[in-house]
Amino acid sequence: MRAKFERLGLTSPESFVLHLPIRYEDETQIQDIVTLRPGMLAQVEGEVVRSDIVLKPRRQLTATLKDDSAEIALRWLTFYPSQLSQMQTGKRWRVRGEVRGGLYGFEMIHPRISTPGAPLSAALTPVYPTTEGLSQPSLRKAITQALSATNLQDTLPAHLLKQLELMSFEQAIRTLHGPTPDMDAQALMEHAHPAWIRIKFDELLAQQLSLAAARTARQSKRARAFPLRPSTNSLCSKLKEALPFALTGAQLRVCHEIATDLERTYPMYRLLQGDVGSGKTIVAALAALQAIEQGAQVALMAPTEILAEQHYVKLKFWCEPLGVKVTWLAGSVTAKARREALQDIGSGHAKLIVGTQALIQEGVDFHSLGLIIVDEQHRFGVTQRLTLSLKGEDDIALVPHQLTMSATPIPRTLAMTFYADLEVSSIDELPPGRTPVITKLIASDRRNELIEHVAKAVAKGQQTYWVCPLVEESEALDLQTAVDTHRDLSEALVGINVGLVHGRLPTAEKAQVMQAFRSGEINVLVATTVIEVGVDVPNASLMVIEHAERFGLAQLHQLRGRVGRGALQSVCVLLYQTPLSMIARQRLRAMYETQDGFEIAQRDLDLRGPGELLGARQSGVSLLRFADLATDSALVRMAREVATDLRKNSPEIVQLHLNRWMRGREDYLRS
Ligand code: ADP
Ligand code: MG
Repeated sequence: MRAKFERLGLTSPESFVLHLPIRYEDETQIQDIVTLRPGMLAQVEGEVVRSDIVLKPRRQLTATLKDDSAEIALRWLTFYPSQLSQMQTGKRWRVRGEVRGGLYGFEMIHPRISTPGAPLSAALTPVYPTTEGLSQPSLRKAITQALSATNLQDTLPAHLLKQLELMSFEQAIRTLHGPTPDMDAQALMEHAHPAWIRIKFDELLAQQLSLAAARTARQSKRARAFPLRPSTNSLCSKLKEALPFALTGAQLRVCHEIATDLERTYPMYRLLQGDVGSGKTIVAALAALQAIEQGAQVALMAPTEILAEQHYVKLKFWCEPLGVKVTWLAGSVTAKARREALQDIGSGHAKLIVGTQALIQEGVDFHSLGLIIVDEQHRFGVTQRLTLSLKGEDDIALVPHQLTMSATPIPRTLAMTFYADLEVSSIDELPPGRTPVITKLIASDRRNELIEHVAKAVAKGQQTYWVCPLVEESEALDLQTAVDTHRDLSEALVGINVGLVHGRLPTAEKAQVMQAFRSGEINVLVATTVIEVGVDVPNASLMVIEHAERFGLAQLHQLRGRVGRGALQSVCVLLYQTPLSMIARQRLRAMYETQDGFEIAQRDLDLRGPGELLGARQSGVSLLRFADLATDSALVRMAREVATDLRKNSPEIVQLHLNRWMRGREDYLRS
């Protein structure tokens, strides 16, 4: 029993108290069989009028139960001999289960059987999350015991509860474990009851408090400070000087925020978010130079080799004229090049090291790594892992600063919760001279018209991306689709150079194709989603996304960001196949209605929920058991304010509250 409880995380009386029902069952009444409808969870009483072992399609037990109003079938796909005698004709039972529409009328599969005529529950029956071999009654009993053995005193003072209009903790807990008949059943089921509100608030408050504690812990670590040299012959000034453009106001602002962080003696942990094309790379380069100027090394990582290589080319172009050695390290380099790179990195000769994430994962030995920059980290979880992987170096006194860049902004609610210990800088302004992209939704039966249009655009010197449909289940099919599309377009577009790039292409070849597209040699580039992030070809002004309904919102937004990078009017065509699912329709509408990455991110959160947005497991959100970030944003704000205030004025309450909510959940406290 103990082991089973432990599997549920139930180790202390407090944990039993906080083991709250996942749902409630209504056992307060007996329904007439004639009133049952498929999908209902129902409880009926009656007499067995027939029962039988059926052998086809497979051996199963069936019975028919009859009350004064009608009959219903019961069915067991596996059964014990004892159940046979239970279901003998003439016996009476109370039966509970979900009603389904069967072949011969309604039925219940594996219903729960109990004694007829027993007193009915007066109130909803809680149903707890459980594990194999642990019955609801045993759990209920253990919880009832814990309720009488545990101090349910409030962690929050009465005046605060009053001010926030919150129910007391004890009342909330008792309500949720043992609802009484007078309570609003609907509200209980839907987590909208004041008792749930209190619990959700408590949980969010605990999360805010622990994140704030994690932030404090981080600030107690040591990092090398990189004072910014304001002089005109500093590396940063020289780079700015050499640029063919002036930084936007937003870029200057975030540069300043980052520079200030880098001057501190504790590690920066900052997210730089800005829509695609907002100019994050130059900001990263300036941050890197600030560290390099003081003799440190900087690692810049991107999720794919294509992207990493683009960075490498650009950074080399910017930095090497300033005498800064930029080194390339990726999975595909030759053994010799790799050996040389590793040697340069180890000796400190290499200053700016660019590559994929393999860079830190392979345990490359840096001479003096002062700053890590991670680009386009969609699955934000990795940032966390990164912090963890550096944890072992705590006794080496210095931790590198960390800058993460993303074109998919974090919706505010998430920024306030999971990322509460992450500093955020936003580039909320695009460089001048960009024209907004026109988005068109076109049904796929007009594909041929579109191909003609592409031919005309190419004749005018414009370049086109043609993105292939995503085949989620199969990489092989994905590839096949790309190859087929490439063949079809090559045939249809006579005299036009159609290129193909996909994930399976060897890196060198990928780079070659991208280079040919950049130089204008290729007019139309057929691509899988490998071009999703970061690729920069200003002359590409038309993008076609086939089967746009298969893509996620963030992904569509990223893809669209590949065009509209030059002065030309750009168009993004979302080709879709009817009929559209509800959610696909909403996604396409969102794409049509807005180009604001923040707005898109918020709508994505609304449509998908935070778990999926973050990549479920890694996300701290999954640690929230009761609150729901998509619907409880008002509570999040409230918890955040209260957390700030408590940390400042009432440390003893903070301790009490964390003790109640965080005991045994140290995983919460990432440092
Ligand atoms: P992203 O934020 O998507 O990574 P990039 O850093 O790739 O964007 O920048 C997109 C393009 O805009 C690049 O060609 C870059 O050189 C250019 N760029 C960046 N900042 C400015 C600016 N202030 N004015 C004009 N062009 C800029
Ligand atoms: Mg970029």
